[in-house]
Amino acid sequence: MHDIIVIGGGPAGLAAAVYALDKQLDVMLICSHLGGKTGYTQQIQGHENPPAILGVEQAHHLRQRIEAVPERLVSDVVVGVFTHESAFHILGEHRTWHARAVIIATSAQPTMLGIPNERQLVGHGLGYSIPTHAQAMKGRHVGVVGAKARALRGTAELTQYAERIALIAPHTGHLNSLLGQRLCTHPKVDLFEGYKVRNVEAVDGQVQTMVVSQRDVVQRIPVSAVFVDMGLIPNTQMVRQTVQVDRDGFVVIDYRNQTSVPGIFAAGDVTNVPVEQILMAIGEGSRAAMYAYDYILARRLEMRSSAFIYQ
Ligand SMILES: Cc1cc2nc3c(=O)[nH]c(=O)nc-3n(C[C@H](O)[C@H](O)[C@H](O)COP(=O)(O)OP(=O)(O)OC[C@H]3O[C@@H](n4cnc5c(N)ncnc54)[C@H](O)[C@@H]3O)c2cc1C
Repeated sequence: MHDIIVIGGGPAGLAAAVYALDKQLDVMLICSHLGGKTGYTQQIQGHENPPAILGVEQAHHLRQRIEAVPERLVSDVVVGVFTHESAFHILGEHRTWHARAVIIATSAQPTMLGIPNERQLVGHGLGYSIPTHAQAMKGRHVGVVGAKARALRGTAELTQYAERIALIAPHTGHLNSLLGQRLCTHPKVDLFEGYKVRNVEAVDGQVQTMVVSQRDVVQRIPVSAVFVDMGLIPNTQMVRQTVQVDRDGFVVIDYRNQTSVPGIFAAGDVTNVPVEQILMAIGEGSRAAMYAYDYILARRLEMRSSAFIYQ
């Protein structure tokens, strides 16, 4: 039986696995795609290296650390996590593993626009993470798609940098909230309530125009970038029967990154604590591993981990 099994090889899972390695624990990292969502860059026309929040290099370094011990790395898709007699059984498509503690770092997927050229435009002006790239939008015309709380928070941040923001709200969402009402009257924000994005047009592979419509009214909006923020879909199918998830399916954690089941921890975009940036995922993964180590330590000392007090 392993000490810790980490599910997910993005920055949260990599940080957790490397932390456990450094503590000389018997750790295994299982993932379907090593590196997770760390391979994206964003190019904005006329901006060679737009300022982005750091983290890619740190994630790359963590990846090299784990690749240096290939016996600790497994490529598989986890389909279930079960508890039985104070051990955890992790069911992959190819085999089953057993561990004393588990760290779930399987992340979430952004809801996509569903336009034909969407994948080609990602990183060429189309993005899903406003906090990462907002500061690169200085003086630009930008589109935001979505009216949930996250999209509105992102729009608020964009008012600090962008020249104009076209806020496309297919549904009312949180527009009636205090923030929503403030944004609706903000001089930089043009609200398109009830509109849908029909297309995003590119010139030389770079986003240039957003085409939106409401019934038969079609509008063409010139933009340098489009941020799609219509919500995240958590990858939690494999644990929904085992740990508590919130109404959107995100794993509920406490301040120690512990889930509703002692011994199962979670970190990164899969949790109900908003993260969505590489640096934060690295911090969360490290913290989950630290508390997973406490859990194992307490068991070795035949104590409860609540016996470990930090203040
Ligand atoms: C287009 C785009 C660009 C971004 N750009 C930046 C940026 O420049 N800077 C920044 O800080 N943040 C950026 N972000 C956000 C950042 O990438 C994420 O917040 C971060 O990667 C989350 O880390 P994570 O470890 O939680 O998940 P992820 O990086 O998504 O990794 C999830 C891991 O879980 C694995 N997995 C999922 N399900 C299973 C399963 N069933 N079995 C086994 N493995 C599984 C996956 O294979 C993967 O290894 C961007 C996000 C997107 C979508």
